[in-house]
Amino acid sequence: MKIHEYQAKQVLARYGVPVPAGEVATTPAEVRAIAEKLGKRVVVKSQVHVGGRGKAGGIKLADTPDEAEAVASRILGMDIKGLTVEKVLVEEALNIAREYYLGITLDRGAQRNVLMVSAAGGVDIEEVAAETPEKIARVLIDPALGLRDYQIRDACYAAGLDREAIAGAGKFLKALYQTYIDMDCSLAEINPLVLTAEGTLIAADGKINIDDNAMYRHADLADLAEEGQDNPLEAEAHRRGLQYVYLGGDIGIIGNGAGLVMGTLDEVKDAGGTPANFLDIGGGAKAEVVASALELVLMDPNVKGVLFNIFGGITRGDEVARGIIAGSARLNIQVPIVVRLTGTNEAEGRALLAQTTLVPAETMQEAAAKIVELARAA
Ligand code: GDP
Ligand code: MN
Repeated sequence: MKIHEYQAKQVLARYGVPVPAGEVATTPAEVRAIAEKLGKRVVVKSQVHVGGRGKAGGIKLADTPDEAEAVASRILGMDIKGLTVEKVLVEEALNIAREYYLGITLDRGAQRNVLMVSAAGGVDIEEVAAETPEKIARVLIDPALGLRDYQIRDACYAAGLDREAIAGAGKFLKALYQTYIDMDCSLAEINPLVLTAEGTLIAADGKINIDDNAMYRHADLADLAEEGQDNPLEAEAHRRGLQYVYLGGDIGIIGNGAGLVMGTLDEVKDAGGTPANFLDIGGGAKAEVVASALELVLMDPNVKGVLFNIFGGITRGDEVARGIIAGSARLNIQVPIVVRLTGTNEAEGRALLAQTTLVPAETMQEAAAKIVELARAA
């Protein structure tokens, strides 16, 4: 789950991280009032669940309340990477001398959380990571020991932080780590950590992503979620209780079991297709679940064909086939559907499919090749 910058800053502030004074607004008039209250130059920042807002024109400085109101009227309602700006954060502007990057995320390869520190923070950190990765110091964190002081020092020196930053960054990194652990984050980031012209350190931006699988431990955070800020198909899947990930291609994929579905994505790619989604309907294939899954996949206007990949284990193949037939019969389906069915009672299942317009397949490769071909012809 993603949360907004202003929410991340509220969390970080509770852990002792200094953040600029500011408030959230939804109208230009509110922005003006906040700017008047702050009584100084302000920065008006779009609150959307994507990075790179600065480069997209979603962050603007304003010298006066008049100007703040004017820039807010341009930023509110703006489209940033497909998301509409509904809120802005109005903060006292900082006199930026230097910008640093601080981040913690999971390094899947190392099976450890990793601390990242860079003296090349700011809006170009993605390019830094891609082109000059040596400018980002990385330290793996032992989950049993936590983040140690010596690791903080190592990372800050290796990153070549300025003297003032080295002296103060520890407090930010400890707070960031504690937030990351307490909130079951998949990412916690301060970029930029700003060294002001006055010589103080302050978090100018904050980003916190929470692992969805841990949300049950954070009932208090559920109201921070904003469905309008997520992919609409993923939000609908969430409402339906389906494990769905939007992938942007044109072949809808439905299977039972996450591993099987991931394998199916690879096969479709190998066959020259592009998966529209990941969808795991889990064990069994009850008609209602199948219908709901199929309906969801077909809500994506790009989908030109659907591939079912079902392994009949405890669930019998004929039962699965009946589920798919009943489920698809309820919907007015305009695209080809290939069903690969294997396991217990697969012959009976395929015999049932043979009486429908659903296209049966025996192997995953065959199924992938068929759906790619049919979708292309459609
Ligand atoms: P992002 O582009 O979505 O990561 O948004 P950030 O909050 O990181 O802002 C992008 C950039 O805007 C920062 O790297 C700064 O250079 C600039 N910026 C943000 N806040 C201020 C501010 O208070 N004063 C000034 N001068 N620049 C700011
Ligand atoms: Mn940023």
